Amino acid sequence: KKPDPGIGLVRDRLSQVRNKILILSGKGGVGKSTVTALLSRFVARSNPEKNVAVLDIDICGPSQPRVLGVLGEQVHQSGSGWSPVYVEDNLSVMSIGFLLGSPDDAVIWRGPKKNGMIRQFLSEVDWGSLDYLFIDTPPGTSDEHLSAVTYLSEADLTGAILVTTPQEVALLDVRKEIDFCFKVKIKVLGVVENMSTFVCPTCRKSSEIFPASTGGARRMCEELGVPFLGGLPLDPALAKCCDDGEDFLAVLEGSRVVDDLKDVVTGV
Ligand code: ADP
Repeated sequence: KKPDPGIGLVRDRLSQVRNKILILSGKGGVGKSTVTALLSRFVARSNPEKNVAVLDIDICGPSQPRVLGVLGEQVHQSGSGWSPVYVEDNLSVMSIGFLLGSPDDAVIWRGPKKNGMIRQFLSEVDWGSLDYLFIDTPPGTSDEHLSAVTYLSEADLTGAILVTTPQEVALLDVRKEIDFCFKVKIKVLGVVENMSTFVCPTCRKSSEIFPASTGGARRMCEELGVPFLGGLPLDPALAKCCDDGEDFLAVLEGSRVVDDLKDVVTGV
């Protein structure tokens, strides 16, 4: 079988990207896109001298344009590739969401077409030199993951961060995701437990939402020998910021979400 010429193109383009981090989850709706956006905004804000970017390869459900507040922006093609959309001076994003006519358009593609789009995303976006590239993926282990891994394993992928919620059903799926990483030799940088507690908007007190599962993600990590990066609370103010595309770091300054996020980033 002939080697895929895309592999060399991806390697060349990403040679200017120091850390390439996949964000994975077993299930949809556990907050993978939210965590990707939180991490990228946080790393960009706390390191103004570093360049950070988000690549959204969730082809059927691209959320980054909305969450990062750049819905409706256009990407432009230049001599050196697609120019990403800038959220901040040092934070850029590329998503299939920018290429659709309307945010409600469905993308119904088979594997080879998705593979082609991921190859283009990985090889043709003109990021310039980057310190961190966070890659938001669809849930589970699908065609998109296999394509991304094929290209990225030849391009010095740093590793993967896995996002889960505390319930047993989500943990079961994240175990499969960890197994996928072991099988395709991706380093697991760690697991983030999202929505581990609930912060009451009125009294700001936090409560356990799934008491039976408390500590489940941490125990799973110990058992499988992967780092546990910490938990993030469910905060209705965060959900509102994501829906409205607001800068959640500014809105949530001083809240539990931002404090806990600091611990997660320190662990990576
Ligand atoms: P995924 O990418 O795993 O499908 P999303 O990041 O799109 O999940 O999150 C699903 C929904 O849950 C979104 O409406 C998002 O705003 C909300 N959400 C995610 N994490 C939190 C959180 N910690 N607090 C409040 N809402 C959250």
